[in-house]
Amino acid sequence: MTPDQLQADVVRKYSEHINPYLARLMNFAGFGVEIQAEGCIMRDQEGREYLDFLGGYGVFSLGHRNPKVVQAVKDQLDQMPLSGKTFFGSKQADLAEKLAQITPEGLQYSFFSNSGAEAVEAALKFAKGTTRRAKIVSTHGGYHGKTLGALATTGREKYQKPFLPLMPGVEFVKYGDAAAACAAIDENTACFIVETLQGEGGIHVPPAGYLKAVRERCTEVGALLIVDEVQTGLGRTGKMFGCDHEGVSPDIMTLAKALGGGVMPIGATMFTQQVCDAIFSENPLAHTSTFGGNPLACSAGLAAIAVIEEEGLVEQSRFKGEKIMNGLKAIQAKHDLIGEVRGQGLMIGVEFTMDEVGELVIGQMVKRGMVAAYTLNNPRVIRLEPPLIVSDHQIDQALQILDEAVGETAELLAQFA
Ligand SMILES: *Cc1c(COP(=O)(O)O)cnc(C)c1O
Repeated sequence: MTPDQLQADVVRKYSEHINPYLARLMNFAGFGVEIQAEGCIMRDQEGREYLDFLGGYGVFSLGHRNPKVVQAVKDQLDQMPLSGKTFFGSKQADLAEKLAQITPEGLQYSFFSNSGAEAVEAALKFAKGTTRRAKIVSTHGGYHGKTLGALATTGREKYQKPFLPLMPGVEFVKYGDAAAACAAIDENTACFIVETLQGEGGIHVPPAGYLKAVRERCTEVGALLIVDEVQTGLGRTGKMFGCDHEGVSPDIMTLAKALGGGVMPIGATMFTQQVCDAIFSENPLAHTSTFGGNPLACSAGLAAIAVIEEEGLVEQSRFKGEKIMNGLKAIQAKHDLIGEVRGQGLMIGVEFTMDEVGELVIGQMVKRGMVAAYTLNNPRVIRLEPPLIVSDHQIDQALQILDEAVGETAELLAQFA
């Protein structure tokens, strides 16, 4: 098969057997077939190289095919890939202990699953079971996944509407508004679920003191604070965890994306002694997952955390983020199309002044060999989330491509004006 034939064949199968509407969208954006990847580079069916500045929405913090994670998973594959679920698992035990050591105080226990949405499902369920309350407070624009329970807390009507009614009792407040959140969190509230930096909502950094204020309010009324760190966790924002920026300890924390080191899928729901006793003391099997905590995924998680620590990736995220931010501000000064650049560490958003521009700019970037995406709940914003191992040279390349892509988009728009 020639590369063109392969592309046509894959698109046809997507159209006939996966999702024709999505296939059309991806085709329009100019995406090829991903064949191979390493570090910050992805290659398509024609061997074309792309700078990966999306990083799988935070999955590839260690880059693609990090050699230490790949080796750990290969070793585990030869020994015992999946768990029989009756005996103890040593890799799961090691990962749970390690996570307890690196997460904020009080988060002592881990429940392992296979994705972010599953981690959120467990978090919501644990909060309801612990408090025996039904009300949940979430944020407009918040993204917590698309399974039925998680979707009930994902703050965008477009994703909820066709599937109503969802889990009842969820109330939404404006993100970053501590007064609104504290007013909504009351004696009937099981939990407040929140991202430390709103990702899909458009890369919004909350004002200083936000997490502290909601932490205090939750404690005051006996509600639990769930911090969804599925995307922000493990160095993405320039701290090990997003809530470390304010030194806040949640009752429950969710992790997924980067936890598998870019090699294995894994989700984790971390929780306190109080939650553990409430959920599991009477029924040790109150929440389970067949594949959750499997040795392959846990060995990937252990290797990933080791790499993050050994290679100082949290610090790298901080200073590389500053470098990109400075470059973006210079580009913004040249283009009226860019309204704002914002972010934390290597979770950066570029907001355009018009709605459709993000999509056009992304198309221009793909043409020039760079991958990025817009935020799901806010198509005016494109996100840059490169691997934390991205080199200075790659950052310079990406900034140049972005500059050219915005310039060409502006020229195109001028023709139609
Ligand atoms: C991606 C994401 C999820 C959902 O994770 P999936 O693995 O796609 O189910 C939940 N919360 C946040 C903050 C995310 O970024």
